Parts: sequence; structure tokens; C-alpha cells
Amino acid sequence: MMRIEHLKKQYGDNLVLNDISLSLDDEVTCILGPSGAGKSTFLRCLNLLESPTGGDIKYNGQSILQPGYDIRKMREEVTMVFQHFNLFPLRNVVGNVMLALQSVKHMKKADAHDIAMEMLKKVDMADKAEKMPDMLSGGQQQRVAIARALAMNPKMILFDEPTSALDPELVGGVLDVMRDLAHNGMSMVIVTHEMAFARDVSDRIVFMADSIVQEDTTPAEFFSHPKTERARNFLSRFL
Ligand code: ATP
Ligand code: MG
Repeated sequence: MMRIEHLKKQYGDNLVLNDISLSLDDEVTCILGPSGAGKSTFLRCLNLLESPTGGDIKYNGQSILQPGYDIRKMREEVTMVFQHFNLFPLRNVVGNVMLALQSVKHMKKADAHDIAMEMLKKVDMADKAEKMPDMLSGGQQQRVAIARALAMNPKMILFDEPTSALDPELVGGVLDVMRDLAHNGMSMVIVTHEMAFARDVSDRIVFMADSIVQEDTTPAEFFSHPKTERARNFLSRFL
């Protein structure tokens, strides 16, 4: 689905991504790595929230960096869920999920409402549809943000530490929703520090450190036989 070729990203003289090449397919990929490894930068490059300074990114065979490429269309198919869910505070829950359906997909209000309710059911938030975001817990808000992403009927969802802003007791509910999506075949790329989730749910682990991909392997292999010293150090902190 997505081919990343010799991707580079530099901030001033800080080389944050140094020649990253990999393909992302219809699977669940967890991106792990220490703070500052470039995980968020990598994810944000995938839909051009950050501009790469070198290399190429191909989506369905087409370079998304070529002049005139319709990145907005691509972002409808590859949606993103952030650490801070950024719900629109003046709209209720169902209104938040309807927003992009109306403004981006130009759907009629009644149709957008139907789809929004269907998505809220998937994240177990249908009963809170009329609530305002500030009435919800962080975990509930994040589930609404996931419903909002799902409403676009995406081909792939990018998650950047979706649970790391949450109180510990709220993390499980969000991970349950993501586990459900995985079991239903949703393609996802997930930056996370939730090691148990990465081990149990992902098809693939990409371990980044020092601006490069150090390991790209199965969870079984990564967690039981990490090949690099960097990964062994990283994992030892979670034991
Ligand atoms: P964390 O686990 O803490 O979220 P990360 O792996 O997501 O870390 P990034 O946020 O991608 O790391 O940052 C990688 C490096 O790029 C860091 O050194 C950071 O300071 C730098 N960086 C990130 N965004 C910018 C920016 N907008 N301007 C300048 N430097 C940046
Ligand atoms: Mg980050």
C-alpha cells in the first residue's frame, strides 16, 4: 500500500530520519523505539504533515511528493489518530464524528448521522452520542477520535501513541477498541509504548533508534530474540 524509499528528514543539522526504506501493507505494524528516535516524525511524513527532506513515499504506486498530488484524497484513505485527540469542543460527540463526513465527503446530514452512529457503536460510545467532549474521560474522547477516523472508511489508520496521554485505568478500553479493529482486518501503523499490546496484536514490529530502522520483524522474534544491542537495551527497560 505504501512504499517508503530512502526517506530522510532533517531539522537544521539534526538528521531525524536517515535513509529509511520499508513497505507498509495490509497488516498491523507497531513502531517501537526510544524517545527521540523519530517515530512521530516518520508517521507524520507518511501523510505529509511533515515534509521529507529526501527520498520518496509511494502510495499505491504513486509518489505523494510529486507536484500536484492530491494529498487530501490520500489523507481520507490514510487517517491519523493523535495522542491528544483534539475533538471540536463546541460540537457534541456525534457531531464530531459527522464533521468530516459533511465537510470533506459532502454527505447529507441524515446520512452522516447514520454513519457516525454506526462508528460510535464500534467504539462502544453510541450511548454518549449527545454528550459534549468535555463531559467525557480521556479514554472516551480517544474512542470518539477513533470513531471519527473510522467514519472516513479508511484503508489504513496511523496512530501516534494513542494511549500515552491517558490515565492508566483508561488505557485498556482504547486498546480493546484497537484490538477489535485489528481482528476485523483494519490496516494500522501504531507508534506505541504498550509492549504487551504490540506483542499480542501486531503482525510486525518496526524498531527505530538513532534515526534508522534497527529491526523489522515479527513480534515473536523481536520480543524473544532481539538482534541489536539497541533493541535489547530498549526491551530491558520494560521487564
Ligand atoms: P517520543 O517517543 O518522545 O514521542 P519520537 O520517536 O516520536 O519520540 P520525534 O518526535 O519524531 O521522536 O522527534 C525526533 C527528533 O526530531 C527529536 O530530536 C526532536 O527534537 C526532533 N524534532 C521533532 N519535531 C521537530 C520540529 N518540528 N522541529 C525541530 N525538531 C524536531
Ligand atoms: Mg513521538
